[in-house]
Amino acid sequence: MGNDKAAGKKAKGTVFVQGEICKGCSYCIDFCPTDCLEFSKDFNSKGYHYPVLARPEDCTGCDLCGLYCPDFAIFGIKFKDLQARKTVGAPGGAGG
Ligand code: SF4
Ligand code: SF4
Repeated sequence: MGNDKAAGKKAKGTVFVQGEICKGCSYCIDFCPTDCLEFSKDFNSKGYHYPVLARPEDCTGCDLCGLYCPDFAIFGIKFKDLQARKTVGAPGGAGG
């Protein structure tokens, strides 16, 4: 019922943002090839806007945003890699 405009499009990936360590430089937003990021309306505790995935259906998980971020506050990942990670690692971030 009710197809919307994005129905034909399927996201290939997503991003993880650590808003608290973002400095609001906007590199991730400027360099995203599919233009799917925007600044948040909210501020973090340091007073910066941080990126949010405004058009998730456009994200490919290419991680260019992560490559450009000087503070490692964002990274992109393809869903297929995320799946692979889930199957090998324990959930909950005991990464090391
Ligand atoms: S992973 Fe790629 S497509 Fe997704 S937000 Fe980052 S730069 Fe844009
Ligand atoms: S590149 Fe990093 S520090 Fe700059 S706005 Fe994006 S997440 Fe924040």
